[in-house]
Amino acid sequence: MEKKKSVLVVTAHPDDEAFGPSGLIAKISATHDVHLVCVTDGASDSRFHPLGPKLGPLRREELKKSAHILGVKKVHFLNYKDGTLSNNLYHEVAEKLTAIAKDINPTFIITMENRGVSGHLDHVAVSMIASFVYRNMPSIDAILYHVASKESSESMKDYFIYFPPGFEKKDVDLVVDISDVLDKKIAAAKCHDTQMKDVLRVTKRWLVVPKEEWYLVTKRRNFADASFFTNQKL
Ligand SMILES: [Zn+2]
Repeated sequence: MEKKKSVLVVTAHPDDEAFGPSGLIAKISATHDVHLVCVTDGASDSRFHPLGPKLGPLRREELKKSAHILGVKKVHFLNYKDGTLSNNLYHEVAEKLTAIAKDINPTFIITMENRGVSGHLDHVAVSMIASFVYRNMPSIDAILYHVASKESSESMKDYFIYFPPGFEKKDVDLVVDISDVLDKKIAAAKCHDTQMKDVLRVTKRWLVVPKEEWYLVTKRRNFADASFFTNQKL
């Protein structure tokens, strides 16, 4: 049997996969080995959270359940402290990510757009580092950046930090139809029990907005097995 191609997904926190590119992950995992890297430990607000130090380990378990539903082959935890990604750690994280990428030889990378979708500085760092790894590894065909729609970002205006404006459909490179995997996307999000307030708000919204995920794409060459990518611009 021919070896499956692999895909590398790079996120900052347990739940970024579910709130972000989960539809694409669920689709691509049918034909590819998906490796998901979560750079932080997800324990940022543990001092204030009723679960205290149990929060980080619980969130990592939630991520494993979500990843299982989405068909991810392996979750890689880098266990950096949530909320602390910065230039000081940039090259250290890039080295770890490069080592994983060399090991799995991904055909493409999925991460967040350069403003981190929500503006969270951990997200921005992760997007930059994934881009750096992509740029330095000519074997990787493309990097796909998940973006929020304009409507979605406007619905987040009361987020705890400045949420950058989202995109218009005409300005993205790739529109993925996720209607066939919406149930998995919702089920994956619901694995994140500790984030249930956000989960309920977001999953309610997913039922009424178009069943799509939007991406910006930087590519060196066409990436294989793109038959389910519906946007003609690619
Ligand atoms: Zn996050």
